Amino acid sequence: MAAQGVGNEDRAIARRGIMLVVSSPSGAGKTTLTRNLIETEEHITLSVSVTTRVRRPSEIDGVHYHFISKRQFEIMRSSDQLLEWAEVHGNCYGTPREPVERALAAGRDVLFDIDWQGALQLYERMRADVVSVFVLPPSAAELKARLERRAEDSEEIIASRLKNAAEEIAHWPEYDYVLVNRDLDKSFTRLRSILTTERLKRVNRADLEGFVGTLLDGLKAITV
Ligand code: 5GP
Repeated sequence: MAAQGVGNEDRAIARRGIMLVVSSPSGAGKTTLTRNLIETEEHITLSVSVTTRVRRPSEIDGVHYHFISKRQFEIMRSSDQLLEWAEVHGNCYGTPREPVERALAAGRDVLFDIDWQGALQLYERMRADVVSVFVLPPSAAELKARLERRAEDSEEIIASRLKNAAEEIAHWPEYDYVLVNRDLDKSFTRLRSILTTERLKRVNRADLEGFVGTLLDGLKAITV
């Protein structure tokens, strides 16, 4: 499905893609929102991070993350293969550079499910391309309940994620958009609207110059 209002014909001419960064504390619903966006929208690629964290039973290597050793992570980091990286909850996470650059050069948008430290690094490197969204939980109690419902992490891990939530949430004012995720469907509609709006911005429409040129030629041809 094409984004609302941005049809395939608009895509014929290569454009540089948008880097859509979504952050939130663990358990606010960000992963569901980003996965839904990838399934619904065309022309957008999910950046699959590398992590030294242990794989959860429901996760697939290469789909949710590339699960790598600390040594492999260190090699990638020191050889500049990561666009950004951060330590979160005691584990290392990073964005492999090459797939992102390839997607952007092909005019595809790229979606990042990364924390505030990663968002900041992308801002510093590629401000003009980055659009950021922060997802807030509706309440502290709901955040705790969601982490417990997921039931894939130990009590100790859940407690540390709750402790870290305040630190993550403190960064909400640094983002372009903020969603309070009270209702997943509503939040998803809003996230899609953000993507559509950003795609329609004139600065992101490299295709328009050619289109307007043709339009003006057409006008010249039919006017005397
Ligand atoms: P989780 O372990 O729950 O999958 O992720 C923990 C946190 O790490 C989440 O906030 C997630 O967005 C963040 N994260 C995942 N991948 C990356 C990455 O490549 N870079 C950064 N900076 N954060 C990441």
